[in-house]
Amino acid sequence: MIKFETSSSFFIALSHSSNFAGIKKILITLLILFSGINLSAQKLERVEPMFWFTGMHNPALQLLIHGENIAASTVSLTYPGVKLVKVNKVENPNYLFLDLTIASTAKAGKFPINFTVNGKKILNYIYVLKNRDKSEERIQGVTQKDFIYLLMPDRFSNGDKSNDVVKGLAETTLNRDSMYYRHGGDLQGVINHLDYLKDLGITTVWMTPEIENDMSKASYHGYAVTDHYKIDPRYGTNELFKKYIETAHAKGMKVIKDIVHNHIGTGHWFYKDLPMKSWVHQWPKYTQTSYRDQAVMDTHASQADRKKMLDGWFVPSMPDLDEQNPFVQNYLTQNHIWWIEYAGIDGLRLDTYPYNDPAYMADWALKLKAEFPNLSIFGETFVNGVANQAYFTEGNTVNRGFNTHLPGITDMAVKDGIYEVLNGKNGWTDGVNRLYDVLAHDFLYQDPTKNCIALDNHDMSRFYSLVNEDFDKYKMGMAMLLTTRGIPQMYYGTEILMKNFSNPDGLVRSDFPGGWPGDKKDKFLANGRTNKENEAFNFVKTLANYRKNSVALQTGKLMQFVPEDDVYVYFRYNENAKGTVMVVVNNTEKAKTLNTDRFAERINGITIAKNVILGESQSIKEIKVPAKTTLVLELN
Ligand code: CA
Repeated sequence: MIKFETSSSFFIALSHSSNFAGIKKILITLLILFSGINLSAQKLERVEPMFWFTGMHNPALQLLIHGENIAASTVSLTYPGVKLVKVNKVENPNYLFLDLTIASTAKAGKFPINFTVNGKKILNYIYVLKNRDKSEERIQGVTQKDFIYLLMPDRFSNGDKSNDVVKGLAETTLNRDSMYYRHGGDLQGVINHLDYLKDLGITTVWMTPEIENDMSKASYHGYAVTDHYKIDPRYGTNELFKKYIETAHAKGMKVIKDIVHNHIGTGHWFYKDLPMKSWVHQWPKYTQTSYRDQAVMDTHASQADRKKMLDGWFVPSMPDLDEQNPFVQNYLTQNHIWWIEYAGIDGLRLDTYPYNDPAYMADWALKLKAEFPNLSIFGETFVNGVANQAYFTEGNTVNRGFNTHLPGITDMAVKDGIYEVLNGKNGWTDGVNRLYDVLAHDFLYQDPTKNCIALDNHDMSRFYSLVNEDFDKYKMGMAMLLTTRGIPQMYYGTEILMKNFSNPDGLVRSDFPGGWPGDKKDKFLANGRTNKENEAFNFVKTLANYRKNSVALQTGKLMQFVPEDDVYVYFRYNENAKGTVMVVVNNTEKAKTLNTDRFAERINGITIAKNVILGESQSIKEIKVPAKTTLVLELN
């Protein structure tokens, strides 16, 4: 990808042509004398971002230049509308950071960035400015209208056996029998199954990070990045990633990219040659984060606790980036903008959100939104309680004088509320009352509909196992997930009742049966699934496809009623009552008869409803609610 020319090749050729070691030594000494310390600056390892775009909101661009002793060179460029404002030298002479401005008048095209030493050009890099893709259907955002499918690309489907083991990468073993090794799944495997997902009612795919994780072991999860600008070659290429998104868009589907600000993998190329000490957080001895989000929000917190939480490393193999370093800030922000503009990504999921520097993340969000107003963003907040997660969302400014500008979060409190409905015993604050209570706290958010809600993910035990493989509970939970407020997300395999507990987490990351050529069972096909698996699949499919046409579920408000007699009732509605969705949750072992008089303000005189799952009409004057059931009714 790097294009470079060198005018020092003559000297290299000369030094290699000698057969006599002594003469060679003299020649090399002479060369060093003549060209000084700059001789070694004859190779550009990296220029990042490799190319950029015209017409961006922010005219500033900071290029990272990496090459041996590159700091000894003088940099120049000439191109209409592009100005080299500043050349930043840092501690490590193998780096330069070039501050450019790109005027709104600059046109797409190419220009050389020249590196000279003592007036002699030693290198150049042909920089490319591409036209920005401003087509309307690109970058649509992911909203409550959507249903997200979370998968791990290594574990979903192997669409290209030729990339299973890639020469030159640190991990050389493919072993599907071990949960720790690579299994060979890839982007082509996902592309091959977009129609399967669309049929199921999925509108959006989120996969765990696809970018290179060239670590010696167990990096199939993707959170130990080693090259920010490269799709892991075991998954495919940058071009294939772009094609994956274009294919999804052509099918009316969307794509979320999972990105990590907080840390990298120790195998990262820049970790092996740090631009400066403060590129990552340095500690006198290894210091792990406390994983205590409270230290960030607590008005009584000590500086020491806050520092440990934010600057401590996530694990020993994942160095913690110093997000207060302006060069790190530019590097990350530009990288994310580059990927979105390059590939047309609809939404971002931000890994380990509470561990990042809050001021930087707020600035980052503003910059991203300025470039891509439709982009959806939600942060991973694996925390306990509504207040703890709401703290990180935009507009939540009580006692802070600070706005995160983060639109949504992964809503663990709603997840916990749904599990309490399914597994808890009803009481004043327990069972159905817990979910009611969690949603009553939505006043803490500027817009809770931007939260991503889920029952499981790659870091948790699987949903079906957590409800003790109780199929009634499975259906109740899925029905709540697909009808309450927020953007629903399902973890791959939940539609076919994949199960297991997350200890170790590899157990919940097993291969989707049928994703590999020669698999004994192909559960992508109805005839490869058991009756029960088909029942689960069809249950999800019915509700997910219903969502696609339900204005109430897509854009409607939520109204919930105080649970009475252990029955929890909520509505999704727009002002026009037609199409209102009424959800009745009975988590008890007893069938109930529900008088609906107290819901008059939402039922609004309507007497007939359609049971969305059964497709049957029924009166709603009095509703018979079977034991352990979530009824989904459309008023019409
Ligand atoms: Ca493969």
